[in-house]
Amino acid sequence: SIATAPPIEFAQRHVSKGLARLSEDVIERAEGSWVTFRGGRTVLDFTCGIGVTNLGHCHPKVSKAAAEQCLNLVHGQCGIAYHEPYLRLIERLLTIVPHASLDSFFFANSGSEAVEAALKMARGITRKQNIVAMQGAFHGRTFGAMAVTKSKTVYADGSSPLMPGVVTSPFPYWHHFNSAPGADDAELVRASLYQLELLLLQQSAPSDTAAVIVEPVLGEGGYVPAPPAFLQGLRDICDKNGLLLIIDEVQSGFGRTGRMFNIQYSGVRPDLLIMAKGLANGFPLSAVVSPKDLTDKLKPGTMVRLPSTPIEVADAFQEERILENVNARSAELFEALWALKADPTVGPHILDVRGQGLMVAVEFASPAHSQFDPAVQKKTPPSMSMRVSKRCLEKGLLLLTTSIYETVRFIPALNISPEDLGKGIGIFKEAVEEVIH
Ligand code: PMP
Repeated sequence: SIATAPPIEFAQRHVSKGLARLSEDVIERAEGSWVTFRGGRTVLDFTCGIGVTNLGHCHPKVSKAAAEQCLNLVHGQCGIAYHEPYLRLIERLLTIVPHASLDSFFFANSGSEAVEAALKMARGITRKQNIVAMQGAFHGRTFGAMAVTKSKTVYADGSSPLMPGVVTSPFPYWHHFNSAPGADDAELVRASLYQLELLLLQQSAPSDTAAVIVEPVLGEGGYVPAPPAFLQGLRDICDKNGLLLIIDEVQSGFGRTGRMFNIQYSGVRPDLLIMAKGLANGFPLSAVVSPKDLTDKLKPGTMVRLPSTPIEVADAFQEERILENVNARSAELFEALWALKADPTVGPHILDVRGQGLMVAVEFASPAHSQFDPAVQKKTPPSMSMRVSKRCLEKGLLLLTTSIYETVRFIPALNISPEDLGKGIGIFKEAVEEVIH
């Protein structure tokens, strides 16, 4: 029971050091936007497990469906036979996929596994080897996913050699061009696409290149939405050169940015669409969806894997008008953050406010930050975002940072109430002010 669970020293002794976390507290239970630590302290959760519990913790319908399913069929044996929930889930997902061509499903347990599967499918379908990944990308922790992850070197520390054949192309984020916030999007897009075209001429011939993999909103790499023209440009380059376009919506999907999938903003058609996290609101499930004529090129037996909770998730989006809430709360959050940026004392410490829906970032211009002088950054490790995040937790708000830049990210539950959002914003403002002074 909770009362007899081992103390924190036990956790520190026996949980792998390789696993980093925001807090050393022990979570006892969680409900909606709130998490309760051992001892009874309750904090507001603006992380949602990095965009997993999009409908809040322990959504009653999702939890009930899971409990009922457990009494009926736990292991679906998908490598042995079809099973009922599997087919009902596909039927439901077909009504929300962002493009009518996406009609063939492969399920796995985690985002990383689905990325792994998508890479394997891209190679198996095209019979080509190389993969183009984006600078700043995060795709997961398994070996293939790690090879296409380009946001922080620590993710692959000691793991080389990684999967060969991965080349990196710039994502249109001003940091990647040693530029500054407010840089002309059209120019960043033009430069990024030009680099990709050069790459296909200089480093990885189209005849050797299977696919381009991209997050439509850079997640771990800084919460940077790709301008639609960039994604459209990628689609064109892929079409022109016979490459598949893999869209990773593990973090940006399932309503996070105000549409069911972010790719709907640009209208771009993915060849392989990866979804996970919000798909089952905390239960381990991911999927790769693609057109049937592509997956028909795979030999049966190439892929094997394993779902009723996600059906409730999809239903909740309709019944509880989740997307309407995302867009209304998003407008309030942006308004508050822009007001903070315009504030004469706090504003100069904020470099950028950006994002889409409830996938929102504030990037600080801390004294440690100097994009033009890496030596300064080396001597003084980035600290403002960490200090703000730590102060927020002390004041009752879980708030995550991102990769190597001075950025904190807001990932509240998509059904968060205006009151709870306001509380979180209030804590954040106080934390920033306290860190500055
Ligand atoms: N892709 C993206 C865009 C992600 O944000 C993540 C997880 N943060 C993953 C893949 C990996 O997913 P998982 O942690 O479920 O393996």
